[in-house]
Amino acid sequence: MFEYAPAPESRAVVDIRPSYRLFVGGEWTDSQGGTAHKTVNPASEEALSEVVWATEADVDRAVGAARKAFGVWSALPGSERAKYLFRIARIIQERSRELAVLETLDNGKPIRESRDVDLPLVAAHFFYYAGWADKLGHAGYGPDPRPLGVAGQIIPWNFPLLMLAWKIAPALACGNTVVLKPAETTPLTALLFAEICQQADLPPGVVNIVTGAGETGAALVNHPDVNKIAFTGSTEVGRQIARSVAGSGKRLTLELGGKAANIVFDDAALDQAVEGVVNGIFFNQGHVCCAGSRLLVQESVAEELLEALKRRLTTLRLGDPLDKNTDIGAINSAAQLAKIRELSEAGEAEGAERWSPACPLPERGYWFPPTIFTGVAQSHRIAREEVFGPVLSVLTFRTPAEAVEKANNTPYGLSAGVWTEKGSRILWMADRLRAGVVWANTFNRFDPTSPFGGYKESGYGREGGRHGLEAYLDV
Ligand code: NAP
Ligand code: MG
Repeated sequence: MFEYAPAPESRAVVDIRPSYRLFVGGEWTDSQGGTAHKTVNPASEEALSEVVWATEADVDRAVGAARKAFGVWSALPGSERAKYLFRIARIIQERSRELAVLETLDNGKPIRESRDVDLPLVAAHFFYYAGWADKLGHAGYGPDPRPLGVAGQIIPWNFPLLMLAWKIAPALACGNTVVLKPAETTPLTALLFAEICQQADLPPGVVNIVTGAGETGAALVNHPDVNKIAFTGSTEVGRQIARSVAGSGKRLTLELGGKAANIVFDDAALDQAVEGVVNGIFFNQGHVCCAGSRLLVQESVAEELLEALKRRLTTLRLGDPLDKNTDIGAINSAAQLAKIRELSEAGEAEGAERWSPACPLPERGYWFPPTIFTGVAQSHRIAREEVFGPVLSVLTFRTPAEAVEKANNTPYGLSAGVWTEKGSRILWMADRLRAGVVWANTFNRFDPTSPFGGYKESGYGREGGRHGLEAYLDV
């Protein structure tokens, strides 16, 4: 082991205002009665800025602006809408360093990830759906598919800008207008995106950003003039939303939680599998809905794999998210840290064995070391509930049928991973795994052309690809 010199990314590239207003009708507007709240850097607990929590009246104004813009936007030829989306995509690329630094500051994720994963994918999503805007008649939804109207979009804090892109790009390509509510702990990149909309000369009201907490989200869900709700977040809130929307005629897509199995067979390339397991659960501190949080390893190679995995974990670097050498950043909030701790303690109490590499944690900020639980039973809470943190539960299996049974033994069904040298086995497994995405010999790989979404309590509807258009068209 040798020491790395610090390699901090400069935060001078981003200009954070002391406070932000709401972006409604193409302008920054004052809230009617909303209170200001700080958003903090979870790596230092330093306040970065203040945002306002939008009230019902604010949401009503934003929906009104989106409704007014809908007439103009939906009447544009697809090729004209595409020009705006291409322009937004190019500005995102031009300003990607600024966006990456801001994302890392507000969220706590390593700059290496925001720079090399989040931002390229955000731009790619806008480029991809820009390409669809003038080809909707060839997407398989009839010769002249119509937009739905005003879309209310509510996103979580784990991939703030990427979730915004997943929601806004297809909605706009199809001719809808949007009101988006970012998560309360990570509002800043959505507000910078609002600036980018201005810079791209997007017609006023096509994109509206209302910051706030759960109540703002609920006001958007319950607004009578919203035609569609797109939600990404917890299964619990997703359920509430499904109940409020039922019978209203609003269209709904839900992208909820997951408890994915990452399944390693004895014929897999083990070194490659170790990298895939690490990427599966420690990418973005495990704040990933499709994280490979359950490792299912074939008994005959379990010992060897675990040894290699533990060795690999000792080389992971946890610390300053703005340092380009950092692998594991900060936990997004004190509340999330408390939840990770609580579930990890339950894991120990229920009899699983806990292991972490020696890993000094910074004094300020919210941190949790990479953690592995072995001896996990399917009934343990850490095998059933979503931890949404850097915590891996290891279970073993003997036969492919047992692997399938254990993998599917969860209320969720968002993703799964299969590691084997045999193509036939990959196909056999993929046929039987009840998961929206099945990765083979890779994990957490995303592409705007590929649909993403869940089975069972992981939600319904697909985002990405041609399938993602369906959620924003009247078909
Ligand atoms: P969450 O509490 O459900 O929050 C998601 C969003 O909904 C936030 O913007 C939140 O605002 C808002 N919200 C909260 N209560 C609401 C209500 N009653 N009505 C309307 N909106 C409401 O989830 P989270 O804890 O932030 O995010 C983690 C969860 O998201 C995990 O379970 C994860 O699996 C899931 N997730 C799923 C996907 C996917 O694609 N399937 C992707 C990412 C995350 P506040 O921020 O103010 O609470
Ligand atoms: Mg929350």
